[in-house]
Amino acid sequence: MSLRAISVLVLTVVFVIATASFTLFDIHIQTKNMEDSLVEEARTFAREMDAVWQFMDNSQYTINNTTSGVYEFKGLHCAIVGKSVGAIFSAGNNYLIRYTNFSPRRAQDKPDAFEAEALTLFNEADDVREYYRIVESDAGVGLRAETSADDGATQFRYARALQVTESCLECHGGPVGEIDVTGFPKEGWTTGSVGGAISVVIPLEQQQQALRDNVIRDVAFFLLLATFIGVVVFALMTVFVLRPLEAMKRAFGEVGEGRLRQSMDDAGTAREISSLIDRFNTMAAELRVTYEGLEDQVAERTRDLRRANEALAAQRDSLEALSEKLAKESQVKSDLLSMVNHELRTPLTSIITLSQIALESSGGNTEERGSWEEVRKSSSVLLGMINNMLDIARSDAGGMAVNIELMDLGDIVASAQGTIGPLAVGARVGLKTAVAPDVPLVNGDYEKMLRILENLGTNAVKFTPAGGTVTIAALREASTGDVLVQVLDTGIGIAPENQERIFERFFQVDSSATRIYSGSGLGLALVREYAVAQGYAVTVESVPGEGSTFTVRIPATAVVELSEDE
Ligand code: ADP
Repeated sequence: MSLRAISVLVLTVVFVIATASFTLFDIHIQTKNMEDSLVEEARTFAREMDAVWQFMDNSQYTINNTTSGVYEFKGLHCAIVGKSVGAIFSAGNNYLIRYTNFSPRRAQDKPDAFEAEALTLFNEADDVREYYRIVESDAGVGLRAETSADDGATQFRYARALQVTESCLECHGGPVGEIDVTGFPKEGWTTGSVGGAISVVIPLEQQQQALRDNVIRDVAFFLLLATFIGVVVFALMTVFVLRPLEAMKRAFGEVGEGRLRQSMDDAGTAREISSLIDRFNTMAAELRVTYEGLEDQVAERTRDLRRANEALAAQRDSLEALSEKLAKESQVKSDLLSMVNHELRTPLTSIITLSQIALESSGGNTEERGSWEEVRKSSSVLLGMINNMLDIARSDAGGMAVNIELMDLGDIVASAQGTIGPLAVGARVGLKTAVAPDVPLVNGDYEKMLRILENLGTNAVKFTPAGGTVTIAALREASTGDVLVQVLDTGIGIAPENQERIFERFFQVDSSATRIYSGSGLGLALVREYAVAQGYAVTVESVPGEGSTFTVRIPATAVVELSEDE
């Protein structure tokens, strides 16, 4: 609900309640005033009647005696004159002023219901001397005023007690029943008792009309005043509150839509609204500064992003070029590999076989045997190197497929011995194998395990001077259940700082051109790759000048335990 609607509603409710309250209050006050003035008027009438009565009473002697003192009754006694004067008083208006009593001498003076009430009250209570109230003339209590036009009219009734004085006793005192001067029997009243009442009837038609007119006039004036106040209040609220608020609402809307260059004018507004406008202006200014800062930041970030994109695009281009180059190189490499494979391995294998045959058929000619021996050794070393190169190349090309199967380490050791044996003989190095009887079958790749042992064995023979010993052993480590395959030699050993590096590709302890030991530096790298591919680990322990021990650790999880009857 809008503030404007709430204000109108509240003002209307206040207006209605105030008008109703004022009307009721005014009616009450007007009625009270009317009653007061009626009482006053009735009292005046009654006093005047009283005064006439009194005068007549006091003047009886003068009236009824001649100047010479002879009594001559003129018929002008107080009751008659009082009633006549009452009739004269009310002749000019529509009031009724009369005398009444419970047992009147004339029948028309009998009291009506209201007058009877008043007389009873006066007789019972000495201190109550007047009685008045408003009655409906047709309610049985009303005494119809002669000139009153309406039977159902409302009347103001007033009664005042007439007290019996000494002078009244002449006509109304004792003895009861004695005929008085006016010809009526005396009632036997005593001084101080109630001798009747003066009754005044005032029809309220005119007063009520006047009261209505007054109330209507007052309420009309009040309405006019209240409307004026309401309009002024609403106008002030519109000017000082509603309009500034609407302007602020518009300004907030503008800010909300991103138009931050908003500034409101607080001239002519109330202090509270003006401080609100000040705050709004400050807020809008701060927002503007922040927003502009943000825009700068966004612009800078966008520039950064563009630069980064350009750099990325450049990198992508160079990567594409590199990739193309690599693809070409890869093609060259694979061509080279297949060439090496075909053009070198095949003839080398033939040379090794031929030199073996020549060795076996050369008889006792030591010189010739020596030459054939050299040919076979060199060819074997060369073949080993080529094999290693090809394996490494295959591994790099992602061709390292592992073929896990059940394998007997005894078999593999024997097979490796077959390859290394001739080399050891040529190098005059003793070659031993020691496979412990409790070595179990293990899961692994037969070919790769054989290549591991061939490489380790070839190295051991190569780096062990003549007269030394190379041992290929397989045993089960009791504490862990792992199987260890070891190649031990009594050769030159490896310095501690090189013991880890020898597993790097192309690393050779002596890589100088004048080195004694031939090789490519790929063998051990390949050994480790093969071992890791099967889930094994390779380590070396060595003391320079004493020898080295290479250990392939096959974890217990790869061990296949066969039951007794298998
Ligand atoms: P290479 O083809 O040169 O033998 P490897 O990777 O097989 O390449 O060996 C790397 C280097 O580790 C060798 O050049 C050698 O210096 C050292 N090495 C390997 N095995 C032994 C060993 N049993 N005794 C002493 N040194 C060794």
